[in-house]
Amino acid sequence: MKRRTPLQGDELPSIVTPPPGPKSRAAAKRLRRAEGAAIWGRDESPIVWSRARGAVVEDLDGNRYLDMTSGFGVASLGHAPPEVKRAVSAQAGRLVQGLGDLMPHAARERLVRRLSKLGGALSRVLLASTGAEAVELALKTAAIATGRRRVVAFQGAYHGDSYGALEVTDHPKPPGPVRAQLQGRAIHVPYPYPFRCAHGDRCGGVGCGGRCLEEAFASIDAALAGADPPGAVIVEPIQGRAGAIVPPPGFLPELCRLARERKLLVIYDEILTGAGRTGPFWAWERSGPEWEPDLLCAGKGLGGGVAIAALFGKPAAMEAWRAHVPPSGEAPHASTFYAHPLACAGALAAVERLAAPEFRAHAEEMGKRLDEGLARIAERHRAVGEVRAAGLLGAIELVRDRESREPDPKALGRLISALLARGVLALPSGLHENVLMLLPPLTIGAAQLGHALEAIDATLA
Ligand code: PLP
Repeated sequence: MKRRTPLQGDELPSIVTPPPGPKSRAAAKRLRRAEGAAIWGRDESPIVWSRARGAVVEDLDGNRYLDMTSGFGVASLGHAPPEVKRAVSAQAGRLVQGLGDLMPHAARERLVRRLSKLGGALSRVLLASTGAEAVELALKTAAIATGRRRVVAFQGAYHGDSYGALEVTDHPKPPGPVRAQLQGRAIHVPYPYPFRCAHGDRCGGVGCGGRCLEEAFASIDAALAGADPPGAVIVEPIQGRAGAIVPPPGFLPELCRLARERKLLVIYDEILTGAGRTGPFWAWERSGPEWEPDLLCAGKGLGGGVAIAALFGKPAAMEAWRAHVPPSGEAPHASTFYAHPLACAGALAAVERLAAPEFRAHAEEMGKRLDEGLARIAERHRAVGEVRAAGLLGAIELVRDRESREPDPKALGRLISALLARGVLALPSGLHENVLMLLPPLTIGAAQLGHALEAIDATLA
């Protein structure tokens, strides 16, 4: 059998068999049979990943792709970063499974202490295995700290797919029977979307001069005056799955100010936007230091590839848990894999690198290139209604017509397939399923980023 050359994380794509190739197709067919089509509904066969390194993913057929998804934003340091691999493998030689909350282990102690330092005023840290679990922890903490069960959330928000997270998620909607089981704990209010402003205006200031927030707070004030008032507000500083919607710069500060006035706990969901994705370590820092939240959810890129998420909180909110420890001393929130040792060790190595200033300088430079590249694409193609970029989170919103801004989800499907054939992986997103989302590893090389942007430009042409 012909051996493929070792994967280099900084190479450009190479397509040896039109994707999906025969091996991918066969494996996907076997998988579909075993998993069932209900979970995995798409008709056309996907490519099946075999290995990945840096910004390059190889499929079972030996095709190599530039990964502009970072595996849903997780491979912030590229795939299989050496320091994470080393840390996980050293930990595997010492301790693979611990005793959850009951008896801590050394890797958990080291990671939580490092995250506590990273959190600044949000110095208390609880761990989770997925983003949705971190959101659940935030909702539980808010309920415990405020004694209130309801939460303000935003239209278009995505906070995860577990039941607690679904309470505050608005897009995409879960299947009807699942929705029917939800408790209606969220009050969903408008999120400013400058390109599709509900008031027919491009929001120049705080969402159409403040009208989005005025509307939002009219509903919030009505709820606060009612019998079942909310205790917290949860918000993505940039809405991810809704299409990388970047709100006007004044939005987060004004939201935070109005929420504080009403004594609502403020929760930022930085699961997608955190860990340097948008430039600063946290996206909220783009608004200025005074707008820090009470609670913050992180996940995805924080672990550099390992399955870890975290809730950061100010002591005042987090210490409220103490009153709920049962007489047995058992933790009031626990899970078998809480603080999994391999994940703790890998995440510690990842955080050290992600927080290093010299690392951030490269991501910043690549962010500028992404921004400029997207702007050029917007100038050249009428199918592009708007482009958005914040650090290394980019979006191209496709329209049938620039005047009417009618969304073009079919064009997005064609674009993603054509990019795949050219060896570039990118994600669909958007409230209208018409937004190409770009989430390259923060370590992507200039030539790789340039190549991906050229492929998008050529495909649109
Ligand atoms: N919150 C945001 C903003 C997300 O983008 C996601 C995942 O895409 C989640 C929460 C859920 O995270 P997970 O899929 O790890 O449960």
